[in-house]
Amino acid sequence: MALRNIRTEGDEVLTRKCREVKEMTPRLKELVNDMLETMYDAEGVGLAAPQVGVLRRIVVIDVGEGPIVLVNPVITAQDGEQTGAEGCLSVPGKAGQVTRPNHVVVRAVDADMQPVEVEGEELLARALCHELDHLDGVMYTSKVEGELYDTTEEEAEEEEAAEEGES
Ligand code: ZN
Repeated sequence: MALRNIRTEGDEVLTRKCREVKEMTPRLKELVNDMLETMYDAEGVGLAAPQVGVLRRIVVIDVGEGPIVLVNPVITAQDGEQTGAEGCLSVPGKAGQVTRPNHVVVRAVDADMQPVEVEGEELLARALCHELDHLDGVMYTSKVEGELYDTTEEEAEEEEAAEEGES
């Protein structure tokens, strides 16, 4: 396994539509493992293949309930609505308000090309929508209501506060 380089906004690969996976090759399996490792290393809750420069319909997600690998995922049902802060590993240090369905059902195959169905609410529903959008070259920044804002300043302040708390 190896860490992959995360592409950032402005990289043309993030705006392109991904191709379906017809066969799980050793190379694609390695990609899946690398994507998981890269997501955990970057402390993200999801990562899509185009974010590491590969135009294939593969996403990995972990919202704290264990890893989910989805190959050729499709949303088959959705309902409700949630509006909240969203960020992206390809847009470091930024976040913005995005409205998403509160509940989605996704059909896909896993890394062994076995059929899986994932049902998500709240954060998982948001992560599923966000990552699936990447497969069609759609960035969350195109759906932000209002302005993107910096999260780095907030983090710096939190760190400062934590340091103060220690002393
Ligand atoms: Zn993203």
